[in-house]
Amino acid sequence: MMKIKNVTVFGSGVLGAQIAFQTAYRGYQVTLFDIKDELLEQAKLKFAQFKEFYQQDLNAPPADLDDALTRIYFTTDLAESVKDADLTIEAIPENIQIKKEFYTRLGAVAPAKTIFCTNSSTLLPSQFAVETGRPGQFLALHFANYLWKNNVAEIMGHAGTDQEIFDQVVQFAKSIGMLAIPIYKEQPGYVMNSLLVPWLMAGLDLFRNGIADAASIDKTWMKTLGATLGPMAMSDLVGMNTAYNVIKSYAESTGDEVWKQRQDFMKENFIDKNKLGISSGEGFYKYPNPAYQDADFLK
Ligand code: NAD
Repeated sequence: MMKIKNVTVFGSGVLGAQIAFQTAYRGYQVTLFDIKDELLEQAKLKFAQFKEFYQQDLNAPPADLDDALTRIYFTTDLAESVKDADLTIEAIPENIQIKKEFYTRLGAVAPAKTIFCTNSSTLLPSQFAVETGRPGQFLALHFANYLWKNNVAEIMGHAGTDQEIFDQVVQFAKSIGMLAIPIYKEQPGYVMNSLLVPWLMAGLDLFRNGIADAASIDKTWMKTLGATLGPMAMSDLVGMNTAYNVIKSYAESTGDEVWKQRQDFMKENFIDKNKLGISSGEGFYKYPNPAYQDADFLK
């Protein structure tokens, strides 16, 4: 088994910046690639912010955070970015065409040893395995937002992924501090969204069909299961934009009438009214002091 030392992250956006920082923090040499220098400059600003989060949330020693930064190299040259990469993690836009074109270019310049991982949330590795030119060394390594504290990583190959490569990526995920979740077959939404999306939709359907109000739906779930949140509060936390985009993509990909009704309902009642959840101060609840945080909510 090859020892992974050099990791390249493609895309310095929301997730790519977090993946690069966490990987460097755990001792790897990291190269961060993006298409423009300005974007890499913005990533450096994000790292300054991450240092504060890591100190607050993880009690991370400042010297370790400074060391992490010395291990990150920035480039806009794709061939340069992978010249000695053992493993790569792609976090570029969630668009099948962009990913296919990117992997075609990457496959042509990366050394034969390099393992390719995608952080895609909704696409399956089999949808662009051929473009990588090395399907056996290609799989998904999927992180969650705020990964230093929501440190779960789902590892999912396609039918042609080599078992040894899969196992190696599981070990890598553990080595950067993730709770590694191996997934044995391709599954849209991995484990997490396969659980979360139907749960959120069940709550939304009870609400939009006038079966119960948001607080009653959440109270039922919280009281019965001893949970700290119900599906309506969770929708506010995820944010209505994200929820709407997920619903829209299901509506478009399935053509199913129920998904279309959910999409229309979300648009009319939340998106168009700027009720975007916690970020805009209102969703199913009003913030900063939502009712579900009242001491009396479950009485
Ligand atoms: P983002 O838009 O914040 O960042 C994407 C980055 O990719 C940008 O910096 C952009 O400049 C760069 N980019 C654009 N075209 C490129 C190209 N051709 N080659 C290389 N880089 C290019 O996106 P994000 O939210 O970080 O999402 C990236 C991936 O991570 C997506 O596949 C998404 O599904 C997945 N993901 C996102 C989240 C999340 O909460 N945002 C969570 C898990 C997984």
